[in-house]
Formats: sequence, C-alpha cells, structure tokens
Amino acid sequence: MRKLSDIQALDGKRVIIRCDLNVPLDGKNITDDGRIVASVPTIKYLVDQGAKVIVISHLGRPDGAPDDRYSLEPAANRLSELLAQPVLFAADTVGTQANGAVKALDRGGVVVLENLRFNSGETSKNDSERKAFAEKLAEFGDLFVSDGFGVVHRKQASVYELAQILPSCAGFLIEKELEVLTRLTTAPVRPYAVVLGGSKVSDKLGVIDHLLPNVNKLLIGGGMVFTFLAALGHKVGASLLEADQIPTVQGYLARAKELGVEVVLPTDILVASKFGADAEVATTRADEIEDSPFGASGLGLDIGPDSAENFAREIKEAKTVFWNGPMGVFEIDKFAQGTRAVAKALTEVDGLSVVGGGDSAAAVRILGFEDSQFGHISTGGGASLEFLEGKKLPGLEVLND
Ligand code: ADP
Ligand code: MG
Repeated sequence: MRKLSDIQALDGKRVIIRCDLNVPLDGKNITDDGRIVASVPTIKYLVDQGAKVIVISHLGRPDGAPDDRYSLEPAANRLSELLAQPVLFAADTVGTQANGAVKALDRGGVVVLENLRFNSGETSKNDSERKAFAEKLAEFGDLFVSDGFGVVHRKQASVYELAQILPSCAGFLIEKELEVLTRLTTAPVRPYAVVLGGSKVSDKLGVIDHLLPNVNKLLIGGGMVFTFLAALGHKVGASLLEADQIPTVQGYLARAKELGVEVVLPTDILVASKFGADAEVATTRADEIEDSPFGASGLGLDIGPDSAENFAREIKEAKTVFWNGPMGVFEIDKFAQGTRAVAKALTEVDGLSVVGGGDSAAAVRILGFEDSQFGHISTGGGASLEFLEGKKLPGLEVLND
C-alpha cells in the first residue's frame, strides 16, 4: 500500500485528505468527537510539512442535496480547536465557496469543504457520475491522502474514483487501523472472543459466517439476539427480528457446534412496554420474553443483569476481544447496563481489546470510558467488520495498484 510517509516534498502542495468526520450530532452539538480526534495526526503532519490542506468528508446520510442538519461546519470548528489553528470552512463542496477557499490557502493552511454527500455524485451507483464528481474534487489538489477508514468499504467518489485520478496514498489513521485489525485476522492470541450487537442485524449476520472458523467464542447481544432466540424456537414479542434470517442463524448455530465455537447468548432480557425513556421495564428469561407483563408487545431493549455479568466474565477470560454493536439501546440510560458491563469488561482484558463501530465507539465514551482503556477504538464499523470478513475493500485496493 502506498503510504504518506513515502511521499517527499509536500511543501506548498495542495493535498486533499479524505477524512471520516462523520460524528454524532445533537442539533449543532457534537456528542462524540472521536472521529475528528482520530483524523488530527495526519492533518497535523500535512500542516507541519507546509502543505495546503483540503479536508473532505461526509456526515450522516443526506439525500445528495444540501441539508443544513448534516453540515460539516461544527466538525470544522472542532477541528480548528484540536489543531489550535484557524480552519476555513467552505459552505459548498465543489462550488464557488470551495474554489475561493482553496485558492486562498497558504502553506500550512486548512480548509474543510462542505459535506460530500450534498452532491449526488458522491454515492451514485452510476460509475460515470461518481467519476465526474471526483474529477471536480481533483481540481483542488495535487495529491490525495485517503484517511477515512470508516468509508474504505464503500465504492464512493471521494474514496475510490478520486484515488485513481490523483497521485494517492493512505494516511496514518488507515495505517494504524490496518495494523491492529491485521492482528485480529492473523494469529490472534487465544482465546479469541467476538462480541456482536447493535441494530444492523442483517449486515452483521453475514460477518458471523466468516468469523466462525477463526474465533473461540461468539457473544451475541443487541438487536440481533432476537433472531438467535427465535432460531432456538423462542418467542420474542415485538423485539427486533429478522424472521427470514432464522434458517441462516440455525445454520450458524449448527456450524458453530461442529467447529467447537462457543456461542454465548443472553439468558435474561430487559423487556420494555414501549420504546422510550418513560417505558415500564421488566426482566424476563430469554426463553420467556412474552411472559413479561407486556406480553407479545414487549420489546427487548437490553440484555438482562445475569447476562451482563456472564458476558463480562466470558470477555475477561479472553486474550483477544473484538466488540462491535451495543448490547442494548444505550442512548437511554435504563437500557445501557449491558453495554456498560461489556465495555467495562473490555477495559479489563489481559490482552488486545478492540472496539469497532460508530455507535459502539460513541457508547464507550458517552458511558464515561477513556479511549486509553482499550487496546484500540476503530473509527470504522462496517469497514472493520468487512476487513475481518476478509473482504477486499475498494478504498484500500485502490491504494495498492
Ligand atoms: P455500530 O454503529 O457500533 O456498528 P449499530 O449501528 O449496528 O452499531 O447499532 C447501534 C444501535 O443499536 C444503537 O443506536 C442502539 O440503540 C441499537 N440497539 C442495540 N440493541 C438494540 C435492541 N435490542 N433493539 C433495538 N435497537 C438496539
Ligand atoms: Mg451505527
């Protein structure tokens, strides 16, 4: 892979850097700046080398048109604080504002362009539309540095096509992410446990297939657990369920048995009367969810206390742990216990602990843990999972050829 450290003479060059500044926002307020913090080392290096730095990123999922709720301006302001220098912000991505801001850059200057996804070309399914957008972006730079690890699994204009148009290389964040994730795929110290949760059930079920031959223990919580419980023949009330995936999950369970992989499921569930902070809650056995006072309308929103304790014990016995996906709806304190217990256990692992996923990373910080308590907090959710699956990631492949 072409690396930034191999590139000489950055002084005075216009360098476009693709970062992942896709931070969670509450209005205009950044609730977790982890991804911005993670972007700083490469940007700072470029600044110190005297480059003119043009930062591009997406935020959220706007519909290919400007939408103020997804403006990168708060991220640009935060970046300015972290770099302790002024950062220009252009209120468009490839328009007159961006043009003017890039022209005005001095050596060591930084500009953040507005959300890439305000332009339909960024995520277009049409190759020529993506290429056309990438060509416009490319006019701003002499060199392209790819450092948005969270998007390297996407074939998008600023990730894939742009890297083909300009001379390009990987930034330090991508290098660091790959170094750690490679330790999980190549001879992990055993026992190796993977903990999966969250809400993107069908996305994550696919990963299990690829992980099974490599792991010793698989712990399942969060929204996907209900498809597992249903696969064992239990009723799950109104909890998240992907009924069409039940046969697939039954297949995983059978294969896990053959391979000697221990699948750890919760034995109790925190069931809620509805989705919300003012819900009534009850703890039920995982095989009796509909026996709660809420019957078939009960929603499983967290793993129960016994399960949280058991998951923590299982995690602490491992020497390598990868965790993606909160155990429950941690955004509501009542349903954060399982996630908190898992996070705490990861901080106590005698070995390598890795947290991956936007919401999982945000969860550990929101729940009061420090980044330094973990071996590594990956900025990529989907990207880290696809890497662990052994898939070829377009945004990395393009930096190889
Ligand atoms: P990540 O971004 O870390 O990959 P996901 O995006 O897959 O994680 O999932 C995060 C979301 O999953 C959180 O917003 C959380 O509220 C939700 N979640 C976790 N458990 C459940 C559950 N039992 N039911 C519904 N949503 C859940
Ligand atoms: Mg997420």
